[in-house]
Amino acid sequence: MSIIVQKFGGTSVADSNKILAAARKAIRAQEEGHQVVMVVSAMGKNTDKLIALAKEIDENPPAREMDMLLSTGEQVSVAMVAIAIQHLGYKAVSMTGAQIGIKTNNSFMKARIESISTDRIRKALNDGNIVIAAGFQGVDDNYNITTLGRGGSDTTAVALAAVLNAESCEIYTDVDGVYTADPRVVPKARRVKQISYDEMLEMASLGAGVMHSRSIEFAKNFEVPIHVRAAYSDEPGTMIVADPESMERPVCGAAIAKDEVRFSICGVPDEPGMADRIFLPIANHQIAMDMIVQNVGTNGKAEISFTIPATELSTTLKALDEVKNSIPEAFESFSYDNNLCKVSIVGLGMERQVGVAEKMFETLAARNINIQMISTSEIKVSVLVDKEQGAEAIRAVHDAFDLGSVPSDVKPLVKPEMISDEEKIRLINRLKHMEDVLIESVMLDETQASVTLYGLPQEPGNAARVFKSVTEAGIIVDMIVQSPGDKFTNLTFTVERSCADTALKVAKELAQELGCTASETCPPVAKISLSGTGMRSHTMIAARILKALADGGLNVAMINTSEMRFNLVVDAQVGPKALELLKEELKDVIAD
Ligand code: ADP
Ligand code: ASP
Ligand code: MG
Repeated sequence: MSIIVQKFGGTSVADSNKILAAARKAIRAQEEGHQVVMVVSAMGKNTDKLIALAKEIDENPPAREMDMLLSTGEQVSVAMVAIAIQHLGYKAVSMTGAQIGIKTNNSFMKARIESISTDRIRKALNDGNIVIAAGFQGVDDNYNITTLGRGGSDTTAVALAAVLNAESCEIYTDVDGVYTADPRVVPKARRVKQISYDEMLEMASLGAGVMHSRSIEFAKNFEVPIHVRAAYSDEPGTMIVADPESMERPVCGAAIAKDEVRFSICGVPDEPGMADRIFLPIANHQIAMDMIVQNVGTNGKAEISFTIPATELSTTLKALDEVKNSIPEAFESFSYDNNLCKVSIVGLGMERQVGVAEKMFETLAARNINIQMISTSEIKVSVLVDKEQGAEAIRAVHDAFDLGSVPSDVKPLVKPEMISDEEKIRLINRLKHMEDVLIESVMLDETQASVTLYGLPQEPGNAARVFKSVTEAGIIVDMIVQSPGDKFTNLTFTVERSCADTALKVAKELAQELGCTASETCPPVAKISLSGTGMRSHTMIAARILKALADGGLNVAMINTSEMRFNLVVDAQVGPKALELLKEELKDVIAD
């Protein structure tokens, strides 16, 4: 018999009436002939309330005890849903994460699922029960209760759908699908019929809170189609599947991360290995950095900047203190800015079309919005802007790419075919633990060169001005990295080697016009791209990559990360050596 997993978020089980409505949805699915597993979150804002309660006593409560506390939120709702189903005359059994056998590691408050046993669930289903599983929680090897991180019930649901080879995984929430941007921020946002795993993964990790990004890693790795729908209606919603909605559009959506903190570490000795003295301790605290930019100053000292979510501010400060105390020469000083937000555009089609980044920069320039940092990858462009300009920025960008209108090539929804149980088991067995990082490929690109504008005045419109000239000259740009600075910034980008002379000429003209300096040459560079899942959230991967290169005596000139790609640029002549070093270092996580 086919299995359906239905997940209900906090708002969808906020009171008894909503619990009864959720119970009826599950009963309906069972009546239609399915076995039903429900995954539920804590009622309403209960998790927030529990956190506030703990903080009344301690601002930084111990993580183990927080997990003990927070897991009770879900325990209340599973019992309530089971009571509702039984009251309606059907069989139901509620289970905590530990009772199901959701084994996690022991990273309290950020635990990762290692394995899930299906025996108890299957037995209860075969006995005619609707099984109600507590979302967001598991148990470690020492019987400690763990939680998966805020929003983690989505991950429980998709993970259960994977191990049970469920026919579908329905996510019932307070919005009727995935939109081109958060409809609360962008009123013109449009509900999409379908979005690809890759795009949803980027959107989620860049701020689209409708799905927990780790749930999309599960969906992608184990081929679980997800159906996001409203708990309050029967509208069709959005399918998250392998293929994108439109092939013609370069951008499928925009996202905003409202609370970003940018760190700038100054006076880092410019020698291989110095950067990872800083990155390693941060990675050890499992802080996922984004927008990492490294700059070499004129005095032989480098400046490293990166962004983190505001929730990680105190842990990052702690990690940097640890570095300074143990290695005083690791850096001279650091500063941070927590008045920023990150606005991103995402789309698989971006790689095929030129001028996407330029259009975003131009749109922001036209609104006089200053771009404080830029980082791009094949599937996204992210910029940092002032917090109070964030909403205006995302609305403007959403308009500029016409995301509110339906693309002309949208196809009718086709329900993806189910894969066999044997194939599902093969996919799961590829990994030792279900949430292990998976690197699918490591590639060396020896076709690019790089050019830098140093000391570009930090004014709205300058990035747009640069890329307008570059695009007009017919130059194809790949990576763009803009470092932060109060008054001046450095802007580095890579171009096809055949365009190097033209790029240099354009850069020199721009330097004259904008009052900055262009690099003397446009040297060939080697770009190494790692693609897979989990490279950003498994924070040790970035640290291991940088350490392996440093130990091999190699300097990294540019880095940009996204959920599915980790790109770095080194001098052209050391490209093959860098490739070998990385393949060796990461052989335990590279897929066969
Ligand atoms: P749940 O409690 O059901 O897990 P969440 O609050 O976690 O619900 O997620 C739903 C919310 O996600 C919506 O109310 C919406 O404001 C927000 N959201 C952010 N980005 C998007 C997007 N691109 N599409 C739809 N909703 C989004
Ligand atoms: N209750 C948890 C939270 O609020 C998990 C979830 O809702 O997904 O983060
Ligand atoms: Mg959620």
